[in-house]
Amino acid sequence: MAKHLYLIALGSNQRHPRLGSPRQVVRKAIALIDGSLGKVKAASAIFDTPPLGPSRRHYANAAIVLKSKLGPRKMLDCLLATEAMLGRERRGAPWGARVIDLDIVLWSGGIKANRRLQIPHPRFRSREFVLRPAAKIAPDWRDPLTGLNVSHLLARLTRPRPLSK
Ligand code: ATP
Ligand code: CA
Ligand code: CA
Repeated sequence: MAKHLYLIALGSNQRHPRLGSPRQVVRKAIALIDGSLGKVKAASAIFDTPPLGPSRRHYANAAIVLKSKLGPRKMLDCLLATEAMLGRERRGAPWGARVIDLDIVLWSGGIKANRRLQIPHPRFRSREFVLRPAAKIAPDWRDPLTGLNVSHLLARLTRPRPLSK
């Protein structure tokens, strides 16, 4: 029985030799997840994110809400397997070019932390490229650590701030 809900963030900034653009890779990843890892209950549009950090490639980013019977460890294994299936190779600089990245942002079970897996994802609150798509499909989902929901986290991050002197 499908009993868990997951908020998953997807990102790609590299073309796939067969699938094409990052946007098409993200679309394919959602199609692969739907049915095999659970049921995709909601999917955001695919956003274009200008590069951050050392890479000069744009990202295609999206978020999905996934209903699944898989527990979080098994879910992580399956997401990593899906990344591998889409041709992601784990070498080179972190945050460099990658054909697909699938992260668990939140799940219905609250807080989960061990060496391999941390939920809530430890950096999602400071990432507009995660919060903006997530706010389209799960604005009311509450972060168990801050007590703020996704739309509040996005508003907090993007609120205009006075210039520092
Ligand atoms: P970041 O975590 O800053 O988004 P990244 O996604 O590029 O960086 P990866 O190289 O894709 O990092 O993942 C490294 C490891 O992070 C994974 O093998 C996994 O064990 C671990 N990890 C911990 N928490 C999570 C999570 N919530 N979702 C996905 N992976 C996680
Ligand atoms: Ca990531
Ligand atoms: Ca990742």
